[in-house]
Amino acid sequence: MGGDFSLDQKRYLEGFVSGAQAARAGRGLAPAGAPAPAAEPTGPDAASHRAMARQEAEGRRLTPEEKAKREELGLDSYDKIKAYARDGQFPKGQDMLRWKYHGLFYVAPAQDSYMCRLRIPGGILTHWQLRGVAGIAEAHGGGYTDVTTRANLQIREIAATAAVAVLEGLVDLGLTAKGSGADNIRNVTGTPTAGIDPQELLDTRPHAREWHHYILNARDMYGLPRKFNVAFDGAGRIGALEDTNDIGFQAIEVKDGFGVAPGVWYRLALGGITGHRDFARDTGAIVRPEDATRVAAAIVRVFIDTGDRSDRKKARLKYVLDAMGFDGFLAKVEEKLGAPLTRVPAEAVAPRAEPDRLAHLGVHPQKQAGLSYLGVGLPVGRMSVSQMRGLADIAARHGDGDIRLTVWQNLLISGIPDAAIEAAKAAVAALGLSVEASPLQAGLVACTGSKGCRFAAADTKGTARAIQAHCEGRVTLDAPVNIHVTGCHNSCAQHYIGDIGLIGARVPINDDGDTVDGFHLLVGGGFGADAAIATELKRDVKAEDAPRVVEGLLKAWLAHREDGETFA
Ligand code: SF4
Repeated sequence: MGGDFSLDQKRYLEGFVSGAQAARAGRGLAPAGAPAPAAEPTGPDAASHRAMARQEAEGRRLTPEEKAKREELGLDSYDKIKAYARDGQFPKGQDMLRWKYHGLFYVAPAQDSYMCRLRIPGGILTHWQLRGVAGIAEAHGGGYTDVTTRANLQIREIAATAAVAVLEGLVDLGLTAKGSGADNIRNVTGTPTAGIDPQELLDTRPHAREWHHYILNARDMYGLPRKFNVAFDGAGRIGALEDTNDIGFQAIEVKDGFGVAPGVWYRLALGGITGHRDFARDTGAIVRPEDATRVAAAIVRVFIDTGDRSDRKKARLKYVLDAMGFDGFLAKVEEKLGAPLTRVPAEAVAPRAEPDRLAHLGVHPQKQAGLSYLGVGLPVGRMSVSQMRGLADIAARHGDGDIRLTVWQNLLISGIPDAAIEAAKAAVAALGLSVEASPLQAGLVACTGSKGCRFAAADTKGTARAIQAHCEGRVTLDAPVNIHVTGCHNSCAQHYIGDIGLIGARVPINDDGDTVDGFHLLVGGGFGADAAIATELKRDVKAEDAPRVVEGLLKAWLAHREDGETFA
């Protein structure tokens, strides 16, 4: 698709709008001399182009991003990306959006460079892939990677000339960055202990992987009005935070006697977007695990047809559900599927085991006798290339070779025989990393922040590190407290679900309009069985004061809590 297609499309749209207006006016046909209506758009972009045309015909003005996508979808910009790399140029205007279809984010002014976000289904990669990513980050990036809150990796500080080397290097490793940014379906998350978890109901790996490959190979899955998140939770010891996703597939056990085959199904939850203060809600529908991709694709296609393309703040699935209601939306999904969804009452679902909030750090036995996984803490998710190579070596030498990233911005090394645990722990310690499950570090997450993201109002990772350094030793926690530090309302670190949430803000320091890095402070968020949206407690806390304010909050909780009372 290129310039010619855009012209055809423009003609089609002129015809479509004229025809629709005439029909509304009761004239039935466009007046003589009006351009003849063009043919319906065909091809894989047709559904999104029809949705755009419909909304324009209703008098809604498409956002600049929608117009840019119609003119040239980012997937088709690869030649241009190569030319820019040859010339050492970064993209401008809507090309910045297009480059994100290939996982390349130009992050100026925070850094005059690209960030590349990968796709790693379920967050699980091999030791040789991790070593390969380290090689790319060393040769073309800043010598480190960040683990994200979608159990993914980001390489930063990539020069304009290195863009293609990074993208093609990832593909050489069996990885990709395609569709990891812009208005696309983001990295597919899953239970990080899938297949090794003594508590899980279901191994989510095949479903996360199947959905990942479906997205990569179905062009119409790139026609969304806004980004979209999907997670598969197998009911294991480490949660996938599936209720914060647009689609949350949650493994459940259906009891006998409710008219459907008893056993393990996925419960379908929809519309999670905690930055907009909403968790995914149970639809009452259940899905056979082997049907998850088919159902997810139907949901995405209804979203493509119905999502708002005139207001990016209202363009997420939640707002379609709010407007149509769950029943109306699911009826359209069933139309796409050509079959009804299966529904069961809440009492048909057996109680699920809860995740353990410390299971992503330290040594934990697997369901395979004699094997354990080791949860390694990565302060605010960052690891140097030498640490990456060291971790890859440990996985290859002592484990089963897999590295499992978690939404808590850390990683697990799985398949370690009991006899090798101490050697693996010592090797992790030699890298300057820890496997000890400090309740403070376990729940400390931070988005990129002002050091690498143009939207940030404050340095999130620096503040999170300062909070940890200040509070460790001053506050002794005997239960986990999650602290989420996010830089702006996009809420990549999900401040609304933290026991304590901090959202970046410019804090005024005088009447002349001068400001410093700071945060608004929220408390009382949670997820899973404790799902809750945090409420604001204090505004305009200077970043330099945040560690002491958090210390005070934690001490107040310890002093005043009743027996067994959690922070939330
Ligand atoms: Fe950037 Fe905002 Fe996301 Fe933080 S929350 S990474 S500041 S967009």
